Amino acid sequence: MNTLDRTTKDWQAADAAHFLHPFTDHQALSAKGSRIITRGEGVWLWDSEGQKIFDAMSGLWCVNVGYGRQELIDAATQQLQTLPFYNAFFQTATTPSIALAEKLAQLSPPQFQHVFFSGSGSEGNDTIVRLVRRYWDLQGHPGRHTIISRINAYHGSTMAGASLGGMVDMHAQGGLPIPGIVHIEQPYFAQHAQPGESHDEFGRRAASWLEYKILEVGPDKVAAFIGEPVQGAGGVIIPPDTYWPEIQRICDQYGILLVSDEVICGFGRTGHMFGCERFGVRPDLITFAKGVSSGYIPLGGVLVGDRVARVLIEQGGEFNHGYTYSGHPVACAVALANLGVIEREGLVQRVHDDTGPYLAQQFAALQGHPLVGEAETCGLMGAIRLVRRQATADAPAEPFASSLSVGMVCRGHCFNNGLIMRAVGDRMIIAPPLILTRELIDEMMARIRRCLELTW
Ligand code: PLP
Repeated sequence: MNTLDRTTKDWQAADAAHFLHPFTDHQALSAKGSRIITRGEGVWLWDSEGQKIFDAMSGLWCVNVGYGRQELIDAATQQLQTLPFYNAFFQTATTPSIALAEKLAQLSPPQFQHVFFSGSGSEGNDTIVRLVRRYWDLQGHPGRHTIISRINAYHGSTMAGASLGGMVDMHAQGGLPIPGIVHIEQPYFAQHAQPGESHDEFGRRAASWLEYKILEVGPDKVAAFIGEPVQGAGGVIIPPDTYWPEIQRICDQYGILLVSDEVICGFGRTGHMFGCERFGVRPDLITFAKGVSSGYIPLGGVLVGDRVARVLIEQGGEFNHGYTYSGHPVACAVALANLGVIEREGLVQRVHDDTGPYLAQQFAALQGHPLVGEAETCGLMGAIRLVRRQATADAPAEPFASSLSVGMVCRGHCFNNGLIMRAVGDRMIIAPPLILTRELIDEMMARIRRCLELTW
């Protein structure tokens, strides 16, 4: 059938018949049918029924410069015409991949002068596992292979990525985690703070769980600690300001490599170029993806800090690792155009000085709503925890018995009211494009309030 003649129902039938979607219950999908997204412009999407939708999730945390940017389209077209592919293996390179590596070295904290490219964040984190173990092997410590991560972290879907991640539902399928990866609790105040504990006290105590784990595993066996500056897919868990500096101190004390997974937080999401800069930490390695190309084309990688790069380059010989699409020229050309837009439009500064603080004010104003336990933001990411009863002077907020269903009810109202928010248990989360203006924040907030009313 000519694809132009198809109705939404035709597309849904073909979808249910052939397409296995990621993270999807296919029986539920077949019963309801996918929503088919057909077009995007700025922060807006349209579906196959013509409904206009405010995309408060930037696709999947990635379309940071918004939909329909001509510069990115032109960069892809031009590179496809000139050289659609050549690899970076065996002592070859292409000009876009070299130029992007150079650009990333300029934009990142000073200890980062080298980049290893991958096709996605998951592959980037696979590279992390291999790189940190290789580093310790070359340092003469082959027993130092254990990586510590956190429960409810998301580091991707490959075997190593999902093992680094701390999603229990993922670990339950396919025999994860792989050996040599262990987890500590996440710094989630609403779940783990003790009565009367301040945010700062909690942040330091949550960081101390890393030290306990290092001592339990044995300091001479621990290779690295990995964390997202703000846990994204886990529900936008924003740590207290005391957390990361204490993590840094502990890593320094035991000589452990610190890895910042910036697949979501990188390239301006927190109001800083990288999330580690927002929280004042100095990682040895950074994983990136998503925002580097605003999702227009798949691209990811690892920024390799001097401590690791020096050993790898000077002592390592050949690193037996890489992907066909490491440094794909079209992806790199698009990323360069994307970073050009971010710089030219001052998007990181805008989030830092204007839209981030404005969003924080708007979220603070939600606090009086009876459904809202906490409403928190960090730059242009935010979370609203839905509760059955708000906190009083004597008692903490009362959660819903089924956190999953309240989130799904609210998400359903968003879905039907032209707003994409994501539900993670009882947390409704957003990560809108960085091109947001105050007017667009007002528009988004009006939709959020309407959906909260409908859920209440
Ligand atoms: N790391 C983090 C922090 C992520 O949020 C994600 C994806 O959401 C990944 C890694 C995996 O990236 P990808 O889906 O590109 O493999």
